[in-house]
Amino acid sequence: MTRADLAARLRGAGIEEAREEALRLFCHFSGYSRAAALAEPAADCADPALAAALARRLRREPLAYILGECWFCNECYRVGPACLIPRPETEMLVEYAQAHLPPGGFFADLCTGSGCIAVSLLACRPDARGDAYELSPEALALASENALANRVDRRLRFYQRDLLLPGAVSPPQPYDMILSNPPYVRRDRMDALSPEVQAEPRLALDGGEDGGRFYAAFLHELPAVLAPHGCFVFEIGEEQGAQIRALAEAAGFVCRIFPDLAGLDRMAVLCRVEAASEGVAKG
Ligand code: GLN
Repeated sequence: MTRADLAARLRGAGIEEAREEALRLFCHFSGYSRAAALAEPAADCADPALAAALARRLRREPLAYILGECWFCNECYRVGPACLIPRPETEMLVEYAQAHLPPGGFFADLCTGSGCIAVSLLACRPDARGDAYELSPEALALASENALANRVDRRLRFYQRDLLLPGAVSPPQPYDMILSNPPYVRRDRMDALSPEVQAEPRLALDGGEDGGRFYAAFLHELPAVLAPHGCFVFEIGEEQGAQIRALAEAAGFVCRIFPDLAGLDRMAVLCRVEAASEGVAKG
């Protein structure tokens, strides 16, 4: 099969990024680099594993699960159906934390999944350390493998916890930053998700009736484990800006919302009212 054959089959099945996916599948199974494959459009790969992978993709299994890996920030992650596939828009949480975590900072990553937020943050901030929390033991196993493969395992501890239960997070010292990309899809929207997203763990997507149950639980339980100058950094759904702002204000936090590269509200940063007004006083 050539790249063109693959792309035609993918396009025929209604897969949008057919050319790019064909290239990635071809390179993965042929051993060609991207550059070599692009330079040689007629290159052929007869490996039956490629045909099997194509068949899985035509059944709308996500490409990242078929390849078993994906990139996020500057790191490669092992992924599988036990974890959400890291999304490019989530990189903005890492970028924010890279710039704003204090020197030697200590952070938490809640609902860590593949571990991508915690691991990529530790990779770009060698002075930091963190705790990663996750309910699913299978996801936690992937996250710890990803920490090891990306050589940040000595600065990251893992906790298997149900974060909706009181007392799930009780660190020996408060966090300078609490990050999370929790499940935030409204329950009545779950059935409308694409087949690829429906192949991802429901546990990582279902945010309850209004999509906000994790934010509400975090803001109820976790101010006690956040340092006075600390902040929450949450990924949010594009329609959740007003909801998160109301929750934040009720809990005594000021909330700033940031759009992603598509211009959609995607990140909320919450800090305490006192810390925010001090910031203003200091300029
Ligand atoms: N980004 C995912 C989606 O759009 C949702 C991820 C989440 O719930 N944290 O489907």
